[in-house]
Amino acid sequence: MGHIAYVGLGSNLADPVAQVVQALEALDTLPQTRLLKKSSLYRSAPVGYLDQPDFINAVAQVDTELSPRALLDALLALELECGRTREFQNAPRTLDLDVLMYDDLVHHEHGLTVPHPQMHLRAFVLQPLLEIAPDCIIPGVGVAAIAMTACTGQQLERMGNAPK
Ligand code: ADP
Ligand code: MG
Repeated sequence: MGHIAYVGLGSNLADPVAQVVQALEALDTLPQTRLLKKSSLYRSAPVGYLDQPDFINAVAQVDTELSPRALLDALLALELECGRTREFQNAPRTLDLDVLMYDDLVHHEHGLTVPHPQMHLRAFVLQPLLEIAPDCIIPGVGVAAIAMTACTGQQLERMGNAPK
């Protein structure tokens, strides 16, 4: 029996739905890792820098034998593999894959903070997370559903089930 981890996915490429659907499928192909659950896709308005397209987001639950660091490294490799348009060489990648949580772990090292430090502030993480883990407790933070009540002002639209 491996570890239960949650992965946050986001993209605002030209075809971000395809990016996220492809990345969800690819999670199941990572070494020693199985995709257990995936949320619907969600559309969220950009935060911070507003002059860019909406984001497509989702959250996945995986069972993995990988360490948190190895999982993150695998996700960063997947970002490079999947999140690159074919339009021109070195086109920017805008696929973002984050390790949201890993079992009950609270951990901080260079380049890896678990739980993800902003996850409890973001509706586009919390809402899809609650869809697949309604009773989720974010280690060191608290009940995810309560964190979500502070995010209701954030614009988020559920798009329906991700295709199998
Ligand atoms: P964002 O904060 O929007 O996800 P990036 O994906 O560009 O921005 O951030 C990437 C860096 O964040 C990675 O190089 C990684 O080392 C670091 N990082 C720290 N903790 C995490 C985590 N839990 N999940 C993903 N990346 C993390
Ligand atoms: Mg990231």
